[in-house]
Amino acid sequence: MDINVGDILEMKKTHPCGSNRMIVLRVGADFRLKCEKCGHDFMTPRSKCEKKIKKIIRKEEGNA
Ligand SMILES: [Zn+2]
Repeated sequence: MDINVGDILEMKKTHPCGSNRMIVLRVGADFRLKCEKCGHDFMTPRSKCEKKIKKIIRKEEGNA
C-alpha cells in the first residue's frame, strides 16, 4: 500500500468525534495521523493502520 505524507486516509472506523478522515503526518514503521475534524494526532503501527484504511485520498497538486 502506497501512502505518503499529506495523504488523507478514509478509515473503516470513525473517530469518536465523528470523522473518519485522517491526515498523514509521518510515515515509517509507525504512522502519525491527525484527525481531520478534531485535530487529535496519534501514532499507530503501519500494519494495524493499513487494515483499517478504506480509501486513500490524494491531493493532486500537479507538481509531479
Ligand atoms: Zn477526531
